[in-house]
Amino acid sequence: MKPNDLPQFDTAALRAKDAAHHLHPFTDTKSLNAAGSRVIVRGEGVRIWDSEGNEIIDGMSGLWCVNLGYGRQDLVDAATHQMQTLPFYNAFFKTTTAPATELAALLPQVAPPGFNHVFFTNSGSEGNDTIIRLVRRYWDLMGQPQRKTIISRHNAYHGSTLGGASLGGMSGMHEQGDLPLPGITHIDQPYQLQHGKPGESAHDFGLRAASWLEAKILEVGADKVAAFIGEPVQGAGGVIIPPASYWPEIQRICDKYGLLLISDEVICGFGRLGHWFGCQHPHINSKPDLITFAKGVTSGYLPLGGVLVGDRVAKVLIEQGGDFNHGFTYSGHPTCCAVAIANVSALRNEGVVERVATDTAPYLKAQFATLADHPLVGDVDSLGMVAGLVLYKDNASRTLFDADLGVGYLCRDHCFKNGVVMRAVEERMIIAPPLVMTHAEIDEMIRRIRRSLDDTLAGLRAQGLV
Ligand SMILES: *Cc1c(COP(=O)(O)O)cnc(C)c1O
Repeated sequence: MKPNDLPQFDTAALRAKDAAHHLHPFTDTKSLNAAGSRVIVRGEGVRIWDSEGNEIIDGMSGLWCVNLGYGRQDLVDAATHQMQTLPFYNAFFKTTTAPATELAALLPQVAPPGFNHVFFTNSGSEGNDTIIRLVRRYWDLMGQPQRKTIISRHNAYHGSTLGGASLGGMSGMHEQGDLPLPGITHIDQPYQLQHGKPGESAHDFGLRAASWLEAKILEVGADKVAAFIGEPVQGAGGVIIPPASYWPEIQRICDKYGLLLISDEVICGFGRLGHWFGCQHPHINSKPDLITFAKGVTSGYLPLGGVLVGDRVAKVLIEQGGDFNHGFTYSGHPTCCAVAIANVSALRNEGVVERVATDTAPYLKAQFATLADHPLVGDVDSLGMVAGLVLYKDNASRTLFDADLGVGYLCRDHCFKNGVVMRAVEERMIIAPPLVMTHAEIDEMIRRIRRSLDDTLAGLRAQGLV
């Protein structure tokens, strides 16, 4: 689409209003206001446009969620139809709506075996808060109320509510608001660049990283630990892909001590790794008891999240639990559920998930790997439709830039300027593009990323920093 086909927006006026009134998430408002927000006005396929007419390939699927890409009329129609029929009704007092019920019955068809129940929320954070309550309720009902502690990982992301941020392992979040809440503790992440030993194989590192779970269980007391939570691949932490040895060993330890295993699939769910859920990818291959989902369930067209509750927990909760005193006004919101049904149906009917596994992800992997010859780049890796690389000052000796330099942010700004969204996390540059990307679009995205790396390098050279 040409810029002059776009509706006209008064960018300066929008920026001024934004600066005057809008507190953005995870943002230093003062420095944002000095620069001004970019106003995104349109999306089609894998591309977005800003109010100044710039076309940008969305390498991050919005915020890891627009799995089907932008401009899907079927999702719009599902929402329109439901809003015309019944925009909202609740599920609290012996009522339900057709979309909530149909979606609850549809999700077990795509979930791993043994998942037959779902609890709806509005977001991934609320899903994880729900899980904290479900886990503790489960152990109460099991007659082991002392099993309260949930073990998570440093640099995990599980959301931004008090519960979600506590489960998460982001130190910057914990510092603000006296987190984590009691009963939540963390082990180190399986990130070899940070925690590996010289000469250690990825396989050995994976086993060693998993052993930190067992050490923590023994430290807390095996009878006091309720659950372990992890993302199959850490997303916001920087696309940390664990070694293949990691998850099976985590599974073994959870089984050994009877812990509930929680797979936070808010990013990895709904095809992101080429399987319906990340735990099903052979590289992960875990058997969780609870699954958190959100983001891709609606391709981000409307907010929806929830918990897939495995039979082990559901049976106890239903048979013995009585009232579960938890829920949200919009749990099972019919319009959001209608969009989710359309989204899941499209992912299924169009074979998107299989195509990611057999075609799109392997192609992305091969093309992304070509960036490895760039002087700034090392540790190029991908799994499904997430990929990451490390920006090195000297990639031969694996020397990182001084963190204060913010090289990732420089690179991210070049990416935007060159028409591609890439995210910077410390030393890592990451992507999670829409699952429907064509080969030609992947080629174009990689060209724009390479140009941005070149521009970053040129800028650093001009300043004498490399
Ligand atoms: C985004 C995310 C969440 C939080 O979801 P919200 O919808 O933002 O509350 C939780 N877990 C993971 C893995 C996420 O990526």
